[in-house]
Amino acid sequence: CRYHTANQRVMFYQDVEAFDDSNALSLENDLRKALGNQEFFLVYQPQQQLSNGQFIGVEALLRWRHPMRGVVSPGEFIPLLEESGLIIDVGDWVAGEACRQLAQWQTEGIEVAMAINISARQFEQAGLAKRLAQHVAEYGVKPQQLELEITESTAMSNPEATLATLYELKKLGFKLAIDDFGTGHSSYEYLLRFPLDTLKIDRSFIIDVAEARQNRAIVRSLTALCQGLGLKTVAEGVETQRQRDYLDALDVDDVQGFLLARPMEPQACLTFLRKQAKSAVVN
Ligand code: C2E
Ligand code: MG
Ligand code: MG
Ligand code: MG
Repeated sequence: CRYHTANQRVMFYQDVEAFDDSNALSLENDLRKALGNQEFFLVYQPQQQLSNGQFIGVEALLRWRHPMRGVVSPGEFIPLLEESGLIIDVGDWVAGEACRQLAQWQTEGIEVAMAINISARQFEQAGLAKRLAQHVAEYGVKPQQLELEITESTAMSNPEATLATLYELKKLGFKLAIDDFGTGHSSYEYLLRFPLDTLKIDRSFIIDVAEARQNRAIVRSLTALCQGLGLKTVAEGVETQRQRDYLDALDVDDVQGFLLARPMEPQACLTFLRKQAKSAVVN
């Protein structure tokens, strides 16, 4: 009887594994059609400047509206896009769509900076700078309005190649940010040499910033370093007023998180930015 149970368990695990594989496989097949079927869309999360309370930028975040599963989050499908190489085309679509949205908001009188996420494979792609330049030119937005986020681990996987690509992008006028900072391994040498504008402090340091002085010590040292290097700091994942108060005291420049605003579809984001702009004028 015991043997039988063990056997069943083995079968059960095999089934789970097979299900996971075919699940990923079918998602990947669906992803191949998603771009052509216009199933991708962008949501936008505003970033607030702590010095004056103004919302001066948004981050574009990719979403996939699957015909059967509903909206799938990037954590589930970005790895599949990366593995399959589809991220190159999808990333290119993100850049174009973000520029189109910037231009459209501009006609509505809203000027913001737009951050987009660049994946590792996209960053290594030879024609990236040229493609991005084409997108901004097509929609008549300034490259300075577009901030390109690469994660610390992408940046540090081949720092000399990163340096060259960052200079190429900087020369064209794009703003450059390191995302999820603190989760990878940077050397001060490269932080000094990369032509960066912004450092985004990973959410994992922000979660306990109100409770743990160790976290505050880290954030404090990062803001001091960035001030010395002339970089702006952004805290990711700010969810409570206490966190915001601490980050303000620690001299973080900008905050982004559910406390301020969730990622929103374009119309809701426009309404949000308009309302904020009005109250800023009144105050
Ligand atoms: P990220 O670039 O670090 O983006 C921030 C993530 O934190 C977003 O998750 C956002 O919704 C979430 N977030 C914002 N505020 C809060 C908060 O207060 N609390 C919590 N718990 N989370 C918060 P999202 O949209 O699920 O994206 C996850 C990751 O997927 C992104 O992390 C980014 O690495 C990747 N991603 C998203 N869009 C794109 C894209 O267009 N291209 C590429 N290559 N990657 C993307
Ligand atoms: Mg990001
Ligand atoms: Mg991040
Ligand atoms: Mg993060």
